Amino acid sequence: MAFQFEKPPGFDFTPGQSVDLTLLNPPETDSEGNIRTFSIASAPFEDQLRFATRMRDTAFKRSLKKVPLGTVVKMDSAMGSFTLHKNSAKPAVFLAGGIGITPFSSIVRQADHDRAPHRLYLFYSNRRPEDAPFFEVLQNLEKTNPNFRFIATMTEMSGSKETWNGETGRINREMLSKYLNDLRGPIYYIAGPPAMVSLMRKMLVASGVDEDDIRTDEFAGY
Ligand SMILES: Cc1cc2nc3c(=O)[nH]c(=O)nc-3n(C[C@H](O)[C@H](O)[C@H](O)COP(=O)(O)OP(=O)(O)OC[C@H]3O[C@@H](n4cnc5c(N)ncnc54)[C@H](O)[C@@H]3O)c2cc1C
Repeated sequence: MAFQFEKPPGFDFTPGQSVDLTLLNPPETDSEGNIRTFSIASAPFEDQLRFATRMRDTAFKRSLKKVPLGTVVKMDSAMGSFTLHKNSAKPAVFLAGGIGITPFSSIVRQADHDRAPHRLYLFYSNRRPEDAPFFEVLQNLEKTNPNFRFIATMTEMSGSKETWNGETGRINREMLSKYLNDLRGPIYYIAGPPAMVSLMRKMLVASGVDEDDIRTDEFAGY
């Protein structure tokens, strides 16, 4: 589910950053409290701030879903260094697991808007196409930005009602090699649940990628 907020005047952020969002006087709360960290899924050029989250049965998310339009929330300044590197001669390879797409959604939208010279490869892993947030937007960005490749893969098509002609199975060395000339050279960014991030990091290191070229954003709580 995605949530849109009016962008406070003067609020600044770099694509890929996150914020701490606090619910003020929520209808209910539990021991995990009223604060969650969310990556900003919209890009700085957009008028609104957008967040997307996998809805689960927690007091925070039940409250977020229930509160009326126009509800005021508290938001701290944007934080984090999970942002695109400066040297555009080095391609960026993004590995997203499910809702881990949010920081990349911001980065690729802004790169498209700025006509950024970086070559960007987004590998996006989901169980089924119907589970994949922002899928169509990302597909369309591939059409408008010649520097952007979007490679989606599905890991559980047996549970899907849709037809799928793209990649299947987890992101692995063979899949990366199919789209990248050389696995060594790009800067890699991994975002998703901690288990996925750890698995992808191990796979990259075993494939000869330098640890210094790997950046990660772990979505703790999944
Ligand atoms: C930098 C960053 C960016 C994020 N961006 C997003 C985003 O864009 N979208 C999104 O949906 N989520 C994002 N998350 C995760 C988000 O903050 C929540 O943790 C997640 O949505 C789960 O919230 P919940 O209310 O469903 O479960 P919770 O009530 O938070 O908890 C679920 C389970 O996880 C455990 N848990 C909670 N926090 C931690 C922790 N820090 N370490 C270990 N276990 C924990 C709890 O004990 C519980 O068992 C991000 C996290 C980080 C750190």
